[in-house]
This record gives sequence, C-alpha cells and structure tokens, in this order.
Amino acid sequence: MSTLKRSVAVPLLLDGNVLADYLELERKYRQAKQTVLDYLVERYRARVSYFKAWHEVKELVRQYGLPFAYQQQAVKDAVETTFNAWVETGGVRPTVRRVSPYADERAWRMEGQTAISIRLMNGRHIVDLWPHKRFWKYEWLVITGRARRVNTIRLKRTRNRVYAIFTYELTPEEGKKPLAITAFDVNENTVVVARIDLRKTVDKVAQWNRDKIIPPISLHVFRTDFGRLAKRYDAIRRKWAKELSIEINGRRIPGTTTREFRKRAKRLRERNRKRDRVNKVAHELTKEPAVLVTEDLGKRPQEEMIQRKRDKELRHRVKQTPMKAVLNRVEDKAKERGVRLVLVSSRKNSRICPIHGVEMTFPLGPKLGFCPRGHWVHRDVTSTLNMLRKVADELKEYGEVVRKTLDALDEKTLEKWTALVIQTERPAVLARASPMTQPGPPLGRERAPMSRPRGTSALQGGEEAIEGILQNSGSSLIASTAAKIYFTNGGCSKL
Ligand SMILES: [Zn+2]
Repeated sequence: MSTLKRSVAVPLLLDGNVLADYLELERKYRQAKQTVLDYLVERYRARVSYFKAWHEVKELVRQYGLPFAYQQQAVKDAVETTFNAWVETGGVRPTVRRVSPYADERAWRMEGQTAISIRLMNGRHIVDLWPHKRFWKYEWLVITGRARRVNTIRLKRTRNRVYAIFTYELTPEEGKKPLAITAFDVNENTVVVARIDLRKTVDKVAQWNRDKIIPPISLHVFRTDFGRLAKRYDAIRRKWAKELSIEINGRRIPGTTTREFRKRAKRLRERNRKRDRVNKVAHELTKEPAVLVTEDLGKRPQEEMIQRKRDKELRHRVKQTPMKAVLNRVEDKAKERGVRLVLVSSRKNSRICPIHGVEMTFPLGPKLGFCPRGHWVHRDVTSTLNMLRKVADELKEYGEVVRKTLDALDEKTLEKWTALVIQTERPAVLARASPMTQPGPPLGRERAPMSRPRGTSALQGGEEAIEGILQNSGSSLIASTAAKIYFTNGGCSKL
C-alpha cells in the first residue's frame, strides 16, 4: 500500500554560538553543492546516479571540511534535487542560492521528546525544539505505530530562525463504513456540496414512500472566494505596475520589471492564502467517513473552460481557481483518513435537469438553467445532483438509496437550493474603503455589483427571475435548510 508523507517544521532554539556554527555549515554546504553541480554540468547531459557522482567528486567535496555525513548529503542534494531536475527541464545553468542541508541519522538524534542532538561544523550541540500541536500529533502517531519518522531531517533557515523539518510516513487508515454519500463541485468562489445521509436512510429504503419521507439530502455551500482573491491581488499588482512604470527616452518601461515591484510582490500572501483555503476545503470534506464523489477534471481542467470564456479578466480568474489543487488535496486527505473518493465523468453534468432528465437552456447567462418543464436550477446544484445520479450505479449497496433520494426531490427544493447558492456567491461584505484595500482604478463592469445596495442581485441580466426565486423561497427557509460555512471573513475585502 502506498504511504503518505507529511512534513513538520519545528523551530530550533539556538543561542548565538550555535547559530554561528549553523551558518558556517550552511555556507560550506552551499559551496560544496555548487561545486558538485558545476562539475556535473560540465560533463553530463543525462541523469546521473548518486553513487557514480559521489565516486567522482568526493575528493572535490572534502576540501570544504564538512562533517562526512554532510559531504554525502550535499552531493546527494546536488544530484537528486537539482541536477537531475535540470537535465529533465533544461534551461539556464543551475546556481545554488539557498540551501537547506539534509542531516541523516549520523548527524542528529532525538534527545528526549523536546530536544535534538545535532552535529554542526564545529561539533555536537544539544538544541531545544519549540514543539507545537502538529509536531505532537505526528509524534503521537509514531508512538502508537501509525506513522514512522524518517531518519533524515532537513535544516532550514529564514532570517535568524532555524527549523528542523521532520518527515513522517503515515499508514493510511482502514476504509471505514461511510455515513454519507457526498458530491462536491469546485467553482470560482464556492464549493457546492450535496450530501445524502446514510444513517437516516438505509433502513427506510424498503418502505420508501414519496409522500411521507423527507429525502435525507442536504445542500451546503462552502465559500472559498478563490476568484475574488485572484481578482483583488491582480488589481493590486496592476496598480503597482502602473505606479512604478517609467519613461526613458520616450520608451515606456513597464513597472513589473523593476526591483521595487518584485520586492513588493514577494510580500503578497496570495499563494499562502490560497493554499490555506484549499486545505480547509479538503479538511471539511474528509472529516466524516463518506463516499466522496466529484467530477473527473482531466489534466488541465481550466484550459477547457477558458476556451469557452472570451472575457479576458474572467479567463485569468478561472485559471487562478485551484480546482486541481483542491481535488489533489482531497484525494490525499481522503486516503489518509480512509475515505473513498469516486470520480465520475463531467459530461453534461450541469446541463441536464436533475429531476426530469431533459436538457435545460440558459437564457439568463451561464449560471441559471431553465428546465423545459418550467422551473429554474442553478448550474452548481444541477451538477452535484447529476454526479450523485451517475455514481449510483457504481455504489452497489447504496445505489438504491441514492436513486430513491434523488427521485424524491421536487422543484421547490431545487429552487430553495438555487437561492442558497446565489446568496452565498454574492460578496458578503461590500468593499471597504481603506488604503490597504484600495484596488486602484475601477475594473469596469466587473466591479459594479460590489457597490450595489444590499439585496439587489449581483448577476447580470435576468435579475427579476433570480429575485423571484429568492423571494419565493424566503431567507428563513434558506437558513434552515443548509449550513453556510464561511471560511473567510468576507475574504475579498481584507487583504
Ligand atoms: Zn426539470
């Protein structure tokens, strides 16, 4: 069975002398790694094995006076992480800027639970760790035999703080009996989830009666704001680019090429925030034992979608939506937690009416589908329900439950859910005016909905129809049918 890897960075409490010793080690390690790289780049154009390289360069590396274990790790690092990757991708000659030395079992060991003994340039030191929850979590798994701590750690420095990065190999949990069948659909700003509760249903299938049993299915909308996040950061970058552009001899040099721009861009937290939200979605989806269902996205899901969208800005945002990242993360977590994930084909999922099975039209734009039998359904609601229908055949023992549940749905429920999705998609907090959140010049029509009075629709066209749906269903109903989970505190307004 495949194992799962998890890394944990734990800060080391170093005094001045030990820190100086570490810095010396880091410098020598970097020089050694660079020397090895230069040697290999001169001579080879194909992948090289560590043993071959070590044999050839060990004399060269010895001159730096590194402890023997680190000499070998520097060569391994140069060969395996840098040189072989360069051979595969090509490009400019690799240079080593920053290194994170590997320390194998000869160079370090645990000293009790909260300290390590580590060999640096001038000798061994006992160094206290600054342990945290995540570290204890994996140490506990090691103690109880569900994980293994890898013998090699990595040392990594940011400014004056040095971290020890521990790696753990987890044994995936056994498959558990599912409590629910859950289909999810990742969109620009939301993840829509349809959940069939198995505990409430399994025993009732036999005496199922359409009039008496309320279908045990609920719809949840997770708000992620991936699209809005990308849009805001994009606006900030564009504003800086404009501010920093200069004119030399009548030629305009774009601000993006300046040092100042790169400096500022480096401080933006876009990637971290996106990763955070991806992790939270994955956690929410996998925290109960369930059968998870979603669309098979193919290799590059965004490219297909982009081809259909002509608006340049929208295209950028679609590209920024980390659909594949969410799926990969869910897959990984599901494996760790013993949750089953089933992929279904994405064919026509959002175009067929989930009740009547006929093709819908989209007269009011891409989001709202109109069924020829005279009712409206949101595209995301449609696709999650159709995923469930598709998976019914694959789930032998639960297929019947899924089919019966879906058959018991009525138009009224669909409209209620549609209203829920539309409401969650709207910006939760109107743009606040503060120097940090100023996105620069208005972005044209895309921004217009943000400054509308509360309670009017943000979608273009067909607003009356949408308002109608919202009013018919009533907001109290909406609140009671589904839990709205906000990951972000109005993510778009706080940067
Ligand atoms: Zn219909």
